[in-house]
Amino acid sequence: MDFEIHYTPEQEAFRREVRAWFEANYQPNEKQKLPVDYNDMTWEIWEYHRELRKKLGAKGWLAPHFPKEYGGGGLSMEESIILDEEMSNLELRNFGDLGISLCSPAIMVWGTEEQKKRYLPRILTAQDITWQCFTEPDAGTDLASLKMRADKDGDDYVLNGQKIFVGVFGKVDWLYTLAITDPNKPRHANIGAFMVPAQSPGIDIQTLELVARGIKRVIYYDNVRVPKTQLIGGETDGWKVASSTLEVEHGGSATVGGHDHFFNKLASYCREAKRNGIPLSNDPDVRDALVDIWVGSQVTRLFEMRNYWMRASKTPWKWEGAQNALYAKLRAPKVASLVLSIMGPYALTSDPKLRALAGEFEYQQRQSILTHPGGTPEAQKIVMARRIGIAKTKQQAAAIH
Ligand SMILES: Cc1cc2nc3c(=O)[nH]c(=O)nc-3n(C[C@H](O)[C@H](O)[C@H](O)COP(=O)(O)OP(=O)(O)OC[C@H]3O[C@@H](n4cnc5c(N)ncnc54)[C@H](O)[C@@H]3O)c2cc1C
Repeated sequence: MDFEIHYTPEQEAFRREVRAWFEANYQPNEKQKLPVDYNDMTWEIWEYHRELRKKLGAKGWLAPHFPKEYGGGGLSMEESIILDEEMSNLELRNFGDLGISLCSPAIMVWGTEEQKKRYLPRILTAQDITWQCFTEPDAGTDLASLKMRADKDGDDYVLNGQKIFVGVFGKVDWLYTLAITDPNKPRHANIGAFMVPAQSPGIDIQTLELVARGIKRVIYYDNVRVPKTQLIGGETDGWKVASSTLEVEHGGSATVGGHDHFFNKLASYCREAKRNGIPLSNDPDVRDALVDIWVGSQVTRLFEMRNYWMRASKTPWKWEGAQNALYAKLRAPKVASLVLSIMGPYALTSDPKLRALAGEFEYQQRQSILTHPGGTPEAQKIVMARRIGIAKTKQQAAAIH
């Protein structure tokens, strides 16, 4: 089967339009470029990219395949992929706004028409930033064991508890939060999903520094009052709402990246750097390692293309998203180990005199341990096993949308 996308002349014209737009609108100076390491983010970079995202949002290019009436672009999957590829080629990354990718799909499925009109146009055009507040200190992989409470009080709910590993550098507008709404109901049937304004009285956001990637947050909710109009889905539909988000997070976004910049930079480095006067790329072991990395990168792209094809052809989705996520999560430490075998200790230092490529290799070594976000490899395996039909019980099987 040929998964490669064959673009029509109209789609190629769209690619030219996108490139021209970025040439005219994306010209950051040295102080405005996205840093290799999230730890090096500054307010100047953040503000510059926030404005860029607002401009992209106004064109519908941040959520290209969402309907125009909700702030999307109303574009085809192919046009959406062209945008993905072009932004990836410019190495433009989303940095912590999970509203578009994770929260909006759930609002589209579970929100009332009024809620869709209220939240989506601002989220999808980057006017509002949303953080996903699911994980708690004692509820990660086993998310249904979360403890945060949302107790009904008249027309409001009052939220108390703690979320963790949320958000990044910068400001936030909405906290997309799961909490127990009915403690008398069984697990999975006792949760509600809320859009909580981040500026609500009783919210306290603290910083949490991680080795792997920049800062994360701990959020405390102390008697935070939320009107019932901000409940997404029914009072105890939170698990189903979260499943719509997790389906995407477990690899179901069907996005296709552009070139493998990391591999290209590594290959250039190996052509230029010398050991004992001989370019690294002449060493057969280095060449083997490079081929291993390249093959992995191509497999990733094929998974992405297969998933893209499934989404575009509306083929029912089963284990394919989790398979893609699992492969990426297992591949990262393997790539880190191969890079270490090629570069030796230079891959481990961020010392400006010794590091290669502004610290990008050292950052990749740290990043590679980051297999937890969106579910650990074990969680992906469990999802796949259930979808293949080898779960322990039917009740444990995850929902398929
Ligand atoms: C950088 C980063 C960003 C994140 N972003 C967000 C965010 O924006 N919003 C949010 O809500 N959360 C976020 N998270 C949290 C993330 O979703 C959790 O870390 C993840 O769900 C794992 O939970 P945990 O860390 O509590 O580990 P645990 O659940 O305690 O798991 C510890 C280990 O035990 C294994 N394990 C647990 N249960 C099983 C089982 N039944 N079978 C086999 N193995 C098992 C796990 O695979 C893991 O290796 C983020 C985490 C990180 C590190």
